[in-house]
Amino acid sequence: MSTLKRILVTGGAGFLGSHLCERLVDDGHDVICLDNFFTSQKSNVTHLLDRPNFELIRHDITLPIFLEVDELYNLACPAAPGHYQYNPIKTLKTSVVGSINMLGMAKRCGAKILQASTSEIYGDPEVHPQPESYRGAVNTIGPRACYDEGKRAAETLYMDYHRSNGVDVRIVRIFNTYGPRMHPFDGRVISNFIRQAISGEDITIFGEGRQTRSFCYRDDMIEGIIRMMNGPDEFIGPVNLGNPGEFSMLELAELILKLTGSKSKIVHRPLPADDPAKRQPDITLAQEKLGWQPSVGLEDGLVKTIAWFKSISMGHYRPPTPNY
Ligand code: NAD
Ligand code: UDP
Repeated sequence: MSTLKRILVTGGAGFLGSHLCERLVDDGHDVICLDNFFTSQKSNVTHLLDRPNFELIRHDITLPIFLEVDELYNLACPAAPGHYQYNPIKTLKTSVVGSINMLGMAKRCGAKILQASTSEIYGDPEVHPQPESYRGAVNTIGPRACYDEGKRAAETLYMDYHRSNGVDVRIVRIFNTYGPRMHPFDGRVISNFIRQAISGEDITIFGEGRQTRSFCYRDDMIEGIIRMMNGPDEFIGPVNLGNPGEFSMLELAELILKLTGSKSKIVHRPLPADDPAKRQPDITLAQEKLGWQPSVGLEDGLVKTIAWFKSISMGHYRPPTPNY
């Protein structure tokens, strides 16, 4: 049997999805990219359109669709707080109804399906760093719940389709990932700080800036996602994927100022509700089961990301979505 597969990537025009499509097309697979372009634009994948093994479909995963595939990567979901809070009910529908539609397709086709879950399922964690066994501390009624609880419910759906219907599932919990092709106005901290630094605007630190995040470069993340899809049969996850290097937002701002040579001032803005105080992945499981660990440090990854931000025309991107 050929090792080349028909692969569906939902959210395939997004930041991570477009890089995943690129990698799978280069590996020779027949790739269908499905996206409703809510937080992305066609330009992320136009360079793939003339490849014979790439196809683009404009569709919303909350609506049924019938395709014939061997594998599905379900990445469709707004990921930045400003994007997922823009229409919170739609965000929940995307994680829950969208997952049901994609799991139904996997069941009908006998396909393997990978869910892009998130470190947000740990909420504002009391356990640090976070291992997969930690069950999390999410405020079910807060402004982040539409994303966090949607992704938690999606994990439940994946496990129930697996247990009840024998669907071959994989779950990855992605920690903060950055790199070229992030939406410059998505409101995420790395896009905000780089955009602000290179345009000489104030750098907006929310709160005192002592909260921490662990940032993974996109190439490492794509490699981890692909290894998980193709990993041992018995290992379905959830597995943490992220870079354990932990930085405060103040440290991040100072590093971006240094790397851009910017004279921007640091200013403080109110901390958004339920903003997690700290976050760092325990990646022992990914190391043991997938032989995976990130190789790109924050400084090297930021240098590449800054170069990309300098190369794009901001006017090409749709206006900012409110992020507070
Ligand atoms: P992104 O916003 O760039 O990509 C998401 C894509 O999904 C976009 O192209 C968007 O248009 C599409 N989409 C949204 N709702 C849809 C719907 N209903 N139907 C079809 N398409 C839809 O974000 P990203 O950073 O590339 O994230 C990709 C996935 O990884 C998401 O599921 C996100 O939750 C997960 N994730 C990302 C991070 C990160 O730091 N980048 C961290 C944790 C989890
Ligand atoms: N943040 C910040 N300034 C910004 C944008 C974000 O200080 O302009 C902070 C935010 O409060 C959070 C951290 O950076 O503590 C990461 O935010 P992001 O939205 O990138 O990701 P998430 O909170 O989902 O991890």
